[in-house]
Amino acid sequence: MMEIYSEEIQVPTGSDINPVNITEKVQAVAKKSGISDGACFVYSMHTTAAVIVNENEPGLLKDIVAKLTHDFPKNAGWEHDRHDNNAHSHLAATYVGISKILPVENGKIKLGAWQSVFLLELDGPRNRSVFIQIMGVGESD
Ligand code: ZN
Repeated sequence: MMEIYSEEIQVPTGSDINPVNITEKVQAVAKKSGISDGACFVYSMHTTAAVIVNENEPGLLKDIVAKLTHDFPKNAGWEHDRHDNNAHSHLAATYVGISKILPVENGKIKLGAWQSVFLLELDGPRNRSVFIQIMGVGESD
């Protein structure tokens, strides 16, 4: 029988732009769900925080921050800056994307050897809410 399990996790972040590794937290929700096989939806409930999947290598994480800082510069005459001065953060979140769908297999999020899941803070520091929803068949099915 198809089951759905949902949980909202809280993620404190560091300053400005920074990726926070949430792989263990997502795996813990998958384990708790009791769902064996299906899909996991990881969703940032924010307009200035994204979700990415990539390698947890410190140099690469710095490169991601550098690329976003370059592509979405602060104070570049954005209209939204007249409202609350974080247009660059909204733009980066819009283009990077705020959610990912991951496969669930044998009760675990299926990730490649070098893949980790990150909440990508784009306007920190803040406390962020990430909604995780897992859909699939239970272990007893
Ligand atoms: Zn804003």
